[in-house]
Amino acid sequence: MNLFNFQPGHEGYYGEYGGAYIPEILWSTIEELKTALKNAKADPDFWQEYISLMQSYSCRPTPISYLENLSRELGGAQLYVKREDLNHTGSHKANNVMGQGLLTKRLGKTRVIAETGAGQHGVATATMAARFGFECVIYMGTEDVARQRPNVFWMEQLGATVVPVTDGSQTLKDAINEAMRDWVTNYPTTHYVLGTACGTHPFPEMVAWFQSLIGTEAREQMLSQYGSMPDKVFACVGGGSNALGLFQGFLDDESVELVGVEAGGKGLDSGAHATRLTSREGSVGVAQGYKTYFLQNNDGQMLHTHSISAGLDYIGVSPILSHLKQTGRIRFEAATDNEVIEALKLVMKKEGLIPALESAHAFARAIQEAPALPKHTKLLINQSGRGDKDIFTVADAIRDENWEHFIQGKAKDYESRNIYS
Ligand SMILES: *Cc1c(COP(=O)(O)O)cnc(C)c1O
Repeated sequence: MNLFNFQPGHEGYYGEYGGAYIPEILWSTIEELKTALKNAKADPDFWQEYISLMQSYSCRPTPISYLENLSRELGGAQLYVKREDLNHTGSHKANNVMGQGLLTKRLGKTRVIAETGAGQHGVATATMAARFGFECVIYMGTEDVARQRPNVFWMEQLGATVVPVTDGSQTLKDAINEAMRDWVTNYPTTHYVLGTACGTHPFPEMVAWFQSLIGTEAREQMLSQYGSMPDKVFACVGGGSNALGLFQGFLDDESVELVGVEAGGKGLDSGAHATRLTSREGSVGVAQGYKTYFLQNNDGQMLHTHSISAGLDYIGVSPILSHLKQTGRIRFEAATDNEVIEALKLVMKKEGLIPALESAHAFARAIQEAPALPKHTKLLINQSGRGDKDIFTVADAIRDENWEHFIQGKAKDYESRNIYS
C-alpha cells in the first residue's frame, strides 16, 4: 500500500484527510520543502546517510525483546517489544528530528524552530541542533515551562533558546501558533521541525517516512529472529508518528492486525481524555493547517484534553491515521490512566522494563487481549519511549510515601538556603 501515491489534484490528501491550509506567505517555503523531500526520497544516498547517522548516534537498529515472564503470567499470546526507548533522548522522537536535521542541511538552512508541550520533542530538537550546529529556538506555553522544568533545563544546557508563550491557554496549541508566526517571518533561514505526523502537507508524509525505519526493522527482526510475523501490532497514538512508524512495516501484510491505542484518560464518558478516533467527541475539522479528526465541540471550538501521559495529550491526530481508520486497516482502542498505571507496574515487576506512560497505553491493551488468545499468537508492542522522565507522575499515581518525603525535603532545602549563592 503506497500511502503517498496521491490522487491527481489531491496531493497531500489521504482519502479526505490532510491537505495544506496555510497562509499564502508560506506557500513558497512549503513548495521548497516538498521539493527537498521529493528529491531526498529519490536519492538512495540520503536514506543511507540517515541510517548511518542513526546507527552511530542513536543505537539503531533497536532490538525486539521477547517478554517471556509476562507472556507466561498472562497465559495466552506471546508478547514481543520493539525497543524505541533505547534511542538517544529515550524515544522514537530521535528518528524524526535527526531526519529533519539532515533535510535542513540539504535545504541550506541554519536555524531550526520547534513547538513542544511536554518538552520531549524540544529536548530531541535541541540535541539535533547541537549536533548539526544550528541555531535553535523552542516555543513552549508558559504553563508547560512551569510544569516541565527538567526538560527546559536540558534544552537550555543543549544551547537552545526556550521562549515561553503567554497567549491563550499557555500550552501546546499556543506554542504551535507562535512557532508558525516565527516561521512566517524567518522562513528563508529557518526550518520548522514539526514533532509528529500531523500538520500541513508534506509534514505528515515526511515524519511518517523518517519513522518508517521502525517498521522496516521490526518486520525483518520478527522474521529472522522469531521465525514469523506478529499476528497483532500495538502502538500508542498521540499525533501518530510512532504508530505509523511501526505500522508501515506491516501495512501490506493483511494477516497482521494493527491496533492504535489512544489516551482514554479518566474514561471515555468523563470529558477528560484525548481520544479523537475512539470517542463521540472526535469529529472532522480543519485546524493548524490540515484536515483530520479533532476533539472539538459543534462550533469547532477545541475541547480540553487530558491524559496521564503528556505525549498523548493532543487535540489532533495524523490525517494518515484518520484515513486508515476509515478504510478499516487500523483498529483503534483507548486505555484509561488507571489501566496504564496497572500495566506499567506489571511490566516493571515481570520484565524489568520501564516503558514511558505513553507506551504503557499500548502495553495495557495488549495485556488485556493476550490471555484470551492461543499460545502461538504473537503480539508486538511498540515501546516508544522510556519511563524515567515520568518519575514525578508515576510516583504520584502510586502514592509512594518515601518519594513524597524526598520532594518535601528538597523543597525545605531550597527554602532554608539559597543554593545558588
Ligand atoms: C511524544 C511521544 C509519543 C506520542 O507521539 P506520537 O507522534 O503519537 O508517536 C509517544 N510515546 C512517547 C514515548 C513520546 O515521547
